[in-house]
Amino acid sequence: MSAVMTRDDCVARDRSDPLRALRERFDLPEGVIYLDGNSLGARPKTALARAQEVVAREWGQDLIKSWNTAGWFELPKRLGDRLAPLIGAKEGEVVVTDTTSLNLFKALAAALQLQARGPGAARRTIVTERSNFPTDIYMAEGLTQWLDRGYRVRLVDSVEEIPAAVDADCAVLMLTHVNYRTGYQHDMALLSRQAHAAGALTVWDLAHSAGAVPVDLHAAEADFAVGCTYKYLNGGPGAPAFIWVPQRHLAAFSHPLTGWWSHARPFAMSHGFAAADGIGRALCGTQPVVSLALVECGLEVFEETTMAAIREKSLALTDLFIELVESTCGGHPLGLVTPREHPRRGSQASFTHPHGYAVMQALIARGVIGDYREPEIMRFGFTPLYTSFADVWDAVAILKDILDREAYDIRAERSAVT
Ligand SMILES: *Cc1c(COP(=O)(O)O)cnc(C)c1O
Repeated sequence: MSAVMTRDDCVARDRSDPLRALRERFDLPEGVIYLDGNSLGARPKTALARAQEVVAREWGQDLIKSWNTAGWFELPKRLGDRLAPLIGAKEGEVVVTDTTSLNLFKALAAALQLQARGPGAARRTIVTERSNFPTDIYMAEGLTQWLDRGYRVRLVDSVEEIPAAVDADCAVLMLTHVNYRTGYQHDMALLSRQAHAAGALTVWDLAHSAGAVPVDLHAAEADFAVGCTYKYLNGGPGAPAFIWVPQRHLAAFSHPLTGWWSHARPFAMSHGFAAADGIGRALCGTQPVVSLALVECGLEVFEETTMAAIREKSLALTDLFIELVESTCGGHPLGLVTPREHPRRGSQASFTHPHGYAVMQALIARGVIGDYREPEIMRFGFTPLYTSFADVWDAVAILKDILDREAYDIRAERSAVT
C-alpha cells in the first residue's frame, strides 16, 4: 500500500502533478467525476469555437471552396499525421476516416488478400478472442461469410491459448490491444513475433489504447492497426476512426471498399479504379467534415505532453483507485478483473459486483460516471488529461457510501444503453 491515505494527500499529489494544467483544456460539468472517458472522451474547450468556425465560416461563407481553402480534402491525412506519434506510426501511414468497424473490415480484407497472394494462400482462419469487442468479431464473421471461400473465425477463450491457435492454418491474428471490459493489455511485440514466426499477419484494434497507453506499432512489428478517436482521444461523439498501414505494406494494401476517395485521381472521374499511391488508398468516400475537424481539438492537447507522462499518471490513478476500493470497500463482494501487473493493464479499472448494474446507476445518480458491461462488470476509465487524484478519492468515498448503506436498488432494470 502506498503512502496515500487521506484526501489531503490526494490534493497534494494533484498540486505536484505535471499534467495538472491540462484539465483546464476540457469542459466538464460541475459536480461530476467523469470516469467514462474510455467510452466517450470529454470535450476539449476549443471544440466549440472550432465547430463554429467550420459550420459558420468554412461551410456557411466559403461553401464549396473550403474543400481546398480550408483543407477539408486533406483532413483525413493531416489528422492521421498528427495522430501518428501517439501510436508509433510514421508520417503518411495513418488516415482518420470512417468507423473502427469499417476500418477493421478494410484491414482484415487487405491482410487476407496479402496472404492469398503469397505463401499463406491456403491459410483459412482469423484468430481472435471470444472476449473481444463484439463488433470486431461481427465484422470478421461478416467478411469471412461473405467471401465464402472457406475462411472462418476461430475464437479463443484465454490469452494462453493464442500461441497454439496461431497455427499453420492461421492467416490473421486479430486482437484488441486493450480489452474493453477487463482492461487487459496484450504484449503486442511478443504476440506479433509469435504470429510472424507462425506465418500469420496481425491486425490490432487500438480503440482502448490510442491516447491511453504508449503504443509503438513499428517497434512491435505490427502489420495493420485501427482505432477510435472518440474515446481517449476526445474527438467527439461518433468522430471518425483511424487506420494504420505501415510503409512496407502500402504498395500491396488493397481492400474492397474502393470508393473514389481511395482512387489515385478522384477528380479525373475516369472509368476503372486505380488505387492512390499512399495511405489515401485506405479511404473510401466523402468524410463527415464537421465531425472530422473536431478530432484535431483532441489531438492538440496531446502535443502538450508525452505518452510516457500520461502513462505514469494513468498507472498512479488506477493503482490508487484499486488500492482505495480494496482497503475501504473490502467487506463487499467486489472482484477486481483488471490486471494488477502494470504492463498488462490499460487505463481503466473494472470490478465485478453481483448488483453491478444497480450500483453503477447509484454512482451515476451521485455524479460519479462510470459504466456497466455484462456480466456484472463496473468499468471505470481513467483519463490522465483531466482526472485528478482527488477525483479518485471522492469517487471511492461515494462508492463506499453506496455499498455500506446498500443505497442501490437491486431491482433496477437494465436499460440497453447506459
Ligand atoms: C469502441 C470500440 C469499437 C467501436 O467501433 P465503431 O465502429 O466506432 O462503433 C470497436 N472496437 C473496439 C474494440 C472498441 O472498443
